[in-house]
Amino acid sequence: MAEAPAFGPLFVGGFAFVLGLLVGSFLNVVIHRVPREESLVWPGSHCPHCDAAVRPFDNVPLLSYLILGGRCRDCRGPIHWRYPALELLTGLLFAAIALRHGVGWMTPVWLGFATALVAAAAIDFEHHIIPDGISLGGLAVGLVLVPAAGILEGAAPLLALRQAALGAALGGGLLWGVGFVHARLSVAFGRTFAHWPGEGEAVPKPASLDYWTWFPGLGFGDVKLLAMVGAFLGPAGVLQCILLAALAGLLLGLVWMAVRRRMDAPFGFAPAIAVGALATVLLPGLRLPLL
Ligand SMILES: [Zn+2]
Repeated sequence: MAEAPAFGPLFVGGFAFVLGLLVGSFLNVVIHRVPREESLVWPGSHCPHCDAAVRPFDNVPLLSYLILGGRCRDCRGPIHWRYPALELLTGLLFAAIALRHGVGWMTPVWLGFATALVAAAAIDFEHHIIPDGISLGGLAVGLVLVPAAGILEGAAPLLALRQAALGAALGGGLLWGVGFVHARLSVAFGRTFAHWPGEGEAVPKPASLDYWTWFPGLGFGDVKLLAMVGAFLGPAGVLQCILLAALAGLLLGLVWMAVRRRMDAPFGFAPAIAVGALATVLLPGLRLPLL
């Protein structure tokens, strides 16, 4: 571990919290616009009720919502509580990561990782897709930045590179294997999936790429997301993440069923993966790569 300047925990946690609020505010834009393939920068934020542009001083994370009493300044239409909630969540996550990992090279990597996970979870929850820009983009970034930050913190270069590559292969490979076997068994036993890949669509032929990525009941986006998670957490970390994600998925599914009062609610796996990955980053005693 490199010699770190002596910042007090209150300063480090507070700085990370404010940074998290700002990133959370940007994530609100990402989560709304990326699945709709809209520009992230233009046009600026508008009220969904009266279309008035949001003034810069009304766009302060969390504070503006509280000052405006959760209503648009122009038409008094309600602002959804999930915007300040996501800002607060990201702020608290950033503070927790900074306090857990201190000031070091890996801390900004974990902050970026958390940002990608929150975006993937929220977009999957709402739209049932995980954009490749987050999963594959995050995988590419992770394979480079995680070993780089690890080496700067004193890890052996070859070990650091191997851990990231192995983690990515294990994370993506495990879920791909489960999905592939599940799909083959389902076909063998004559089960049909009305919702995937399309109603009444024929099973892809083994010669086609689709055959290898056709996962009824499990999106291939989850495979790509877990490969990305593996690059950041390493082989031991991604295994812990999968176990925690399975538990979290069960709990989230039960809560969802209780709230919706029905069993068939489709529920993306990305929120559970995000919970498992963030728990692996935050909980003391869990093994991280390079440690
Ligand atoms: Zn308005």
